[in-house]
Amino acid sequence: MEKRYYQREIETMPYEQMRALQSERLCKQVRHVWDNVPFYRAKMEEKGLTPDDIKSVDDLHKLPFICKDDLRDQYPYGLLAKPLSDCVRIQSTSGTTGRRVVAFYTQNDVNLWEDCCARAITAVGGTNEDVCQVAYGYGLFTGGPGLNGGSHKVGCLTLPMSSGNTERQIQFMMDLGATILCCTPSYAAYIGEALKEMGYKPEDNKLKAGIFGAEPWTNEMRRDIEKSLGIKAYDIYGLTETTGPGVSFECEEQTGMHVNEDHFIPEIIDPDTGEVLPEGEKGELVFTSITKEAFPLLRYRTRDICVLSRKKCSCGRTLIKMAKPMGRSDDMLIIRGVNVFPSQIETVLLKEGYSPNYQIVVDRVNNTDTFDVNVEMTPEMFSDTVKGTQAAEAKLVNAMLNMLGIRPSVHLVAPKSITRSEGKAVRVVDKRKLHD
Ligand code: ADP
Ligand code: ZN
Repeated sequence: MEKRYYQREIETMPYEQMRALQSERLCKQVRHVWDNVPFYRAKMEEKGLTPDDIKSVDDLHKLPFICKDDLRDQYPYGLLAKPLSDCVRIQSTSGTTGRRVVAFYTQNDVNLWEDCCARAITAVGGTNEDVCQVAYGYGLFTGGPGLNGGSHKVGCLTLPMSSGNTERQIQFMMDLGATILCCTPSYAAYIGEALKEMGYKPEDNKLKAGIFGAEPWTNEMRRDIEKSLGIKAYDIYGLTETTGPGVSFECEEQTGMHVNEDHFIPEIIDPDTGEVLPEGEKGELVFTSITKEAFPLLRYRTRDICVLSRKKCSCGRTLIKMAKPMGRSDDMLIIRGVNVFPSQIETVLLKEGYSPNYQIVVDRVNNTDTFDVNVEMTPEMFSDTVKGTQAAEAKLVNAMLNMLGIRPSVHLVAPKSITRSEGKAVRVVDKRKLHD
């Protein structure tokens, strides 16, 4: 693939220069929130800080963290740093883990966010020759509006499909020759499955690339989607609190996502102590948005577990890379004292040749955690004997035991019996929470 960048100078900027740019923007941002957001001023004063204490990125660690509960407490206007008359848009989180958070945007904020998404589309080979099908939800969810704006900036013909209505998605994909598909990875897998059922082969569509994010997905799932759609599948990451998709994006190397560091400074911290960890160590991802005007966040704790790396990338971008997030710290299940991430189960299933349709059910019976994994049989297995099914279940139990160090009960269920997702998939039903 020919090397293309949307904003070459920024995307390939030498580290020292980027660091200077970040420092300049950080100082300005700290002053902005100090002057305009009483909540931040109070938090800084609590630590004995004034804006004069923040002179460069080296001082970032001195600033207090902000977490999702702060955002919920300050709902709706407590963190607004611009007059409402300067704001042109709100977006809201999906509410995956609790009460929704509302974020505000000035026109400039929207503009910079769309630049970030345009970088992502360009990085997968997108140009004004492309037809970009946006099948993320539109509306309060950031996925649709973000990629839509980025697609316009790149000059692609944009199909603003939103999620759902899979038959219509496929009809437009085929009739209009979509070349880039943007949606959640679980919806991409579903579209792949639907295409096959309708009798299409992977080479029948014109798609070349997909930009999939908004939820954790494994590399095994990537390969599966690439096969079923006949494309290259790229990751994109973001969160409403900082903008939406495009905080980071994958390039042709497909080995992690470049963070748009000119807008967001990433840190990895120890989630228990709050201590900043050195590059390469796994911990909680924290972002400081240094260009957002209406809803700036300093040291926002994402709860996403991740690793950062400055290893040189063959694409020529110098932007730091983040690994695929394993999931959020609050997605992590503690079952009988063992840490379990849904992504580990997904890895096992896809390696063993199953589809990524599964659900984890955890409960507590007589003070002991129960741990069940429902997995769809492959269509070939459906006609299998009871004995064959039992043997297949036992094989999965062993593979999961090896991966997790804890034994689940695996139940093979009929194909299609687990609800497909058009947005973010719900992988876990934790009934223990309902009893508490
Ligand atoms: P909610 O927190 O309600 O789901 P958002 O829609 O803003 O709200 O989702 C942001 C979250 O989605 C991130 O914090 C992260 O946990 C998850 N996420 C987004 N993109 C990815 C990705 N590429 N890989 C893994 N997780 C992702
Ligand atoms: Zn790269």
